[in-house]
Amino acid sequence: MIENVWSAVGLHIFSHGVQNPYVSELIASLSSTKKKQSNESSYKQYFSLQSAQIKRTVELVELRKKRLALKKDTENNENLSCWRKAINPDDGYDPEYYPYTVVPTNSKKITKLPQERKSLFHKTLYRLIGDILSERGENKEKTKEDQYEDSRLNEILENESPFEAKACSICSGGCCGIGEEHAFLKKETIFHYMSEHPDQTPSQVLTSYMKYLPEESFEDSCVNHTKTGCVLPRDMRSHVCNDYLCDPLNQLRKLNTQTPLPKGVFFISRAQNNWKKDDPDVDNSIVGSLLILNDQV
Ligand code: SF4
Ligand code: SF4
Repeated sequence: MIENVWSAVGLHIFSHGVQNPYVSELIASLSSTKKKQSNESSYKQYFSLQSAQIKRTVELVELRKKRLALKKDTENNENLSCWRKAINPDDGYDPEYYPYTVVPTNSKKITKLPQERKSLFHKTLYRLIGDILSERGENKEKTKEDQYEDSRLNEILENESPFEAKACSICSGGCCGIGEEHAFLKKETIFHYMSEHPDQTPSQVLTSYMKYLPEESFEDSCVNHTKTGCVLPRDMRSHVCNDYLCDPLNQLRKLNTQTPLPKGVFFISRAQNNWKKDDPDVDNSIVGSLLILNDQV
């Protein structure tokens, strides 16, 4: 049925609009089977209903885009005004040296980490370690791909701006909510840890990860997500976690390569987390601001 294929290709259609030949072609091709099975008049009715439905969906997507653009404009103006009030040349601040960035906020509650979630994390690790053993046996030699991943991680860490950790701490892990009980861990990361710790048996590797699990963590977030941030050391975190740069981290990384280097960064916190901040239907007011000087990071 058209609905099923529609959801599979929805994004392509949304980004092109209703007049797109791809949409017409899609409707025509999906309808051809139907045409064979129906008489001419019921086919026309079917075709027209489906076209109207697609047109309506595209209109709704366009409307949503406009609402979001409007919301972002308002937010940008609020950000500028908040920054200008705080970074005032009359108070001795040269705005060129004190840029601002906007970070999301994790507003979940800290709760006791349930045993059930700990067990699910244990299961994830057990399965990954099992897969590594069946694929590689006891061999802990790194392949070229492993070495490439290692050098990529080193590069990421070397290019980190001193303000990045601060941003994550102010935001309190606004992107970690989707880490659940898998923490994005993949065989590559566990194998990296295994080869860096050849003295540890597979079951000790599993214990090493489990040992970091906190007693308390953010509700419905990654099991490793605590009040003080991620409990896993960088080299035990997944490639996804190590690679991910949200918009403000990207901005901070660029600032770190520019001249003049910032003397400080003015952080503006907004109410929503990283995954909801671009939803035009939720409130994303400013909930805080903080100037961090370069010598404090
Ligand atoms: S990466 Fe971005 S969204 Fe995630 S904790 Fe850091 S500042 Fe927040
Ligand atoms: S492992 Fe750490 S960085 Fe990754 S999602 Fe979980 S808390 Fe966030």
